[in-house]
Amino acid sequence: MQENIIIADKRPTTQTASWQRQLSQAIRDPATLCQRLSLSDEWLPGAQTGHQLFDICVPDAYLSRITPGDPDDPLLRQVLPLDDEALTPHNYVTDPLEEADHQPAKGLIQKYAGRVLLIASPNCAINCRYCFRRHFPYGDNSPSKAQWQEALDYLRADTSIHEAILSGGDPLAANDRQLAWLVEQLESIPHLKRLRIHTRLPVVIPDRVDDALLGWLASTHLQKVVVLHINHANEIDQAVIDACSRLKQAGTTLLNQSVLLRGVNDDVATLAVLSERLFEADILPYYLHVLDPVQGAAHFDVPDKEARELVTELRDHLPGFLMPQLVREIPGKGSKTPL
Ligand SMILES: *Cc1c(COP(=O)(O)O)cnc(C)c1O
Ligand code: SF4
Repeated sequence: MQENIIIADKRPTTQTASWQRQLSQAIRDPATLCQRLSLSDEWLPGAQTGHQLFDICVPDAYLSRITPGDPDDPLLRQVLPLDDEALTPHNYVTDPLEEADHQPAKGLIQKYAGRVLLIASPNCAINCRYCFRRHFPYGDNSPSKAQWQEALDYLRADTSIHEAILSGGDPLAANDRQLAWLVEQLESIPHLKRLRIHTRLPVVIPDRVDDALLGWLASTHLQKVVVLHINHANEIDQAVIDACSRLKQAGTTLLNQSVLLRGVNDDVATLAVLSERLFEADILPYYLHVLDPVQGAAHFDVPDKEARELVTELRDHLPGFLMPQLVREIPGKGSKTPL
């Protein structure tokens, strides 16, 4: 017994920790982030400014894919706050998608025919600086079990809805007991065919794809689609490939959406390598979003004209099935709009 305890204590925490422990140990302050990545002090004031507008959150599993000492690292750019976040260009707003207007029930957003979005968790495992939800009033949108009934009743009553999309935040930031319960409720709605999950967690903390998650995911009779969010090939390490393979074995279709981001993936070679790398992980590229004009993210913007040129050139480098669709979300439209 004694011996076992000693052995357990000596194992590195990253191997024994559950995803929840990893998340609770994520870096959440500017000084630690700069120090852990050997960034010079000149980055600290900007990081502090941005952090006050939208908290830093970077788990170790993601941090480990960032090259220390390189302020241009494409993964670092996604998580390090800059002074620029305090800029307020007039066309950048706090709710660019006007989602507040499309909530027939708490935690439920319906804008598109045949499918609804359920806010299954207000939390994320990482805070991406360009996030269009950085100002979203999440506190108001994390329903309790009782409150879920309203959303579920809405789904039951509308037989034109065939797909439930779990979104957030990040829906996989919810615990598996809650998710298993929600999926069980959804399964009992006869006209629902598909369960879609929009998540970045398997990329940020690959250990999230554990037996508890695979348990409810593999057992549902709904068809399953997991849409990951990966912007750069460096995000796909072996742990991510393994997590994707577990999701595949549970019977899911894996797709990816990216955001076109200045300084992260705004060149043809980077986008081509991303698509190739996605396919190595058994993921098909789905959407390439242009940035939503959310306040604090203007420095990531790539103008439409340049975005179109990039994608046109990308077509010369990739087979058709590895081409993402370049889209924008326009408030009031019944689907994403191809550019
Ligand atoms: C993007 C989105 C969807 C899903 O759209 P697809 O084109 O089917 O991927 C559904 N509802 C909302 C509110 C969305 O923003
Ligand atoms: S994981 Fe998705 S929802 Fe969460 S901060 Fe990043 S982009 Fe936004």
